[in-house]
Amino acid sequence: MTLERSFRLLWVVVLASLAICAISCGTHQRGPSKFSQKLVILGFDGMDPALLDRGMKEGRLPNLSALARRGGSYQLATTHSPESPTAWASFATGVNPGKHNIYDFLVRDTSTYLPDLGMVKVTPPKFLFNYFPIAKPKIESIRGGTSFWVTAGRAGVRSDILTVPVTFPPEDVPEGELLSGLPLPDIRRTMGTFYYFATDLSRYEEGNTEFGGILKRLVFEGDAATSELVGPPNPVVRQRIDAIRGKGPTLSETDRAAIAELQATADVRVPFTVRWDRGAKTAAIDLDGQTISLRQGEWSTWIHLTFKINMLVRVHGMLQMLLMNAGNELQLYMSPVNFEPGNPPTPMSYPSGFSGDLAGQLGDYRTLGWAEATWPLNEGRMDEKTFMDDLMVAFDDRARVILNRVDRKDWDLLVGVIESTDRVQHMMWRLIDPKHPMYDAALAAKYGDSIDRVYKRADDFVGEVVKRIGPDVPVMIVSDHGFHSWRKAVNLNTWLVQQGYMTLQGQQPGEKRLIDLFGGGTFWENVDWSRTRAYAMGIGQIYFNLRGREARGIVSPGAEAKALADDLSAKLLTMRDPDDGSPIIRAVYKRDDIYSGEYLQDASELQVGMHDGYRVSWQTTLGGSPQGIVYPNMKKWSADHGGYDYAITAGVLVSNRPVGAASPRIIDIAPTVLKFFGVTVPGDIDGKPLF
Ligand SMILES: [Zn+2]
Repeated sequence: MTLERSFRLLWVVVLASLAICAISCGTHQRGPSKFSQKLVILGFDGMDPALLDRGMKEGRLPNLSALARRGGSYQLATTHSPESPTAWASFATGVNPGKHNIYDFLVRDTSTYLPDLGMVKVTPPKFLFNYFPIAKPKIESIRGGTSFWVTAGRAGVRSDILTVPVTFPPEDVPEGELLSGLPLPDIRRTMGTFYYFATDLSRYEEGNTEFGGILKRLVFEGDAATSELVGPPNPVVRQRIDAIRGKGPTLSETDRAAIAELQATADVRVPFTVRWDRGAKTAAIDLDGQTISLRQGEWSTWIHLTFKINMLVRVHGMLQMLLMNAGNELQLYMSPVNFEPGNPPTPMSYPSGFSGDLAGQLGDYRTLGWAEATWPLNEGRMDEKTFMDDLMVAFDDRARVILNRVDRKDWDLLVGVIESTDRVQHMMWRLIDPKHPMYDAALAAKYGDSIDRVYKRADDFVGEVVKRIGPDVPVMIVSDHGFHSWRKAVNLNTWLVQQGYMTLQGQQPGEKRLIDLFGGGTFWENVDWSRTRAYAMGIGQIYFNLRGREARGIVSPGAEAKALADDLSAKLLTMRDPDDGSPIIRAVYKRDDIYSGEYLQDASELQVGMHDGYRVSWQTTLGGSPQGIVYPNMKKWSADHGGYDYAITAGVLVSNRPVGAASPRIIDIAPTVLKFFGVTVPGDIDGKPLF
């Protein structure tokens, strides 16, 4: 086939698929309901039972109190580990993690021990002659089980499922519309790469931060400086690098040089110029054919960008920028590049046109799964006021989408989740806990009410929804876990080394960064696997180095593994804080005691449950073993839930219908919904209907 012919053929395929999309990808018109009943579930990630109770008692949450008066307010038992992906997956499926396979944010490859982000598996796109796109990227969820909205949809229940975590990639929902939530990534396919450009950054500070930001120094010549925005990975270049690497384990000098040269263009970069008027404290940014003029302290609207892979392939995204400072120094923040809802690089809704139809009605809205700016605040590149202003916008964007669907009224079941409640607690808890090492009385006086403000915003939103659907529609308010202060970080791997379960050799490697997960970073460099029986990774998981499973396993399955589980869990419970002798670990759960199902082999052997105040260190989550067992948490990320004992980390359930069970669990929600619509509850569901 000539190049010209394949080119023409390609366009025929593209046009044909566009024509099909024009017919079927938009929002469909739904027929009349088969049901007389409606049900609404609103989720607030991480809403904590103690804070909720206090807010209701103090009369600050009247709409939630009104629901509770008609039904009740309960603690809702969470999952092992009490983390959002795990708990929301159990919410959707009604099963324990052994049947849905989401145990943590991270999974590990047993052949290499390398950590990877869990939830999705990505196959890159393919290009013919390194130019013509012949296969789209494939993104598959690793979640097993069946969502209750799918089971209900098969029975004719018309649903709207909005930004629920663990719904990316979107699944086909019979009779449904679904807008994806976490882990819907940014254009770089990360959880959220932010950008910070400033005149007062030193060369030393430039580069990628521990939590996924890109920092660049701006150097002005007169009034103008140029820089570049690092966009999506270039799949063509990545394909060429992979092809060279595929030649074999030892590469020639020429091949290595070729890879090094290609790596310089492995990401699509968009150059831009900043023109600075120091006197007026303004700047104009020329980016991708647009000029954005901002005053100091001003946010831009959404700026749409086109990233050119080659003449045939373009990727679309959008970002907002904030001119933080334009006085003596210039500081320019850019948000992660969000998918464009009308033109995402891969579908982010079901039907695929639904996300764009919403933008048609609402204007642009934030699409990134992790919608709040936790990372720039944690890295000290954003202040509390900016973080909170931005977080309220993130909340509003999710709320606008949900209210839009509430008003359509052409559904039987509506489920919407907002996660800003979780993010504000992670970042601002230090200002409500005077015992936290990052407590700051002056900041607390100004921002100590931040968490309460978001709970109040959630309450207002509940009131707004109830007003529109009427008081008699059953409503359940759900959270996936509670919260704890995180005062001290615990290096579990370092403890394993000290106790003789893990052996190190050679040099202590450098600190791990989130970007290492995406950029082929190195892990476990100094671990001697031939003398290591157990290793910690993720938030509270301890895996055994099992013979026949791990590539260099030494622990035999069966009696030896069982003895190790007994021995290690007993020792873990004796771990004390060297500073004051406090116990650190409240409970240790063995795999077979807490999980069952077809994905059992992917679970860790032990799940550690910490006391209030202690969490595994960030370095432990990525497998690192730095010096010392316990150290004060000096990050603004000051509260958490993952890795705490699940027994003290319950979420909430507020319902305007009384609930039969004395202690409801998150796995009970799915069967409750199915029974409510008269749909047979599948036999493998672990939960029990609540009403
Ligand atoms: Zn969280």
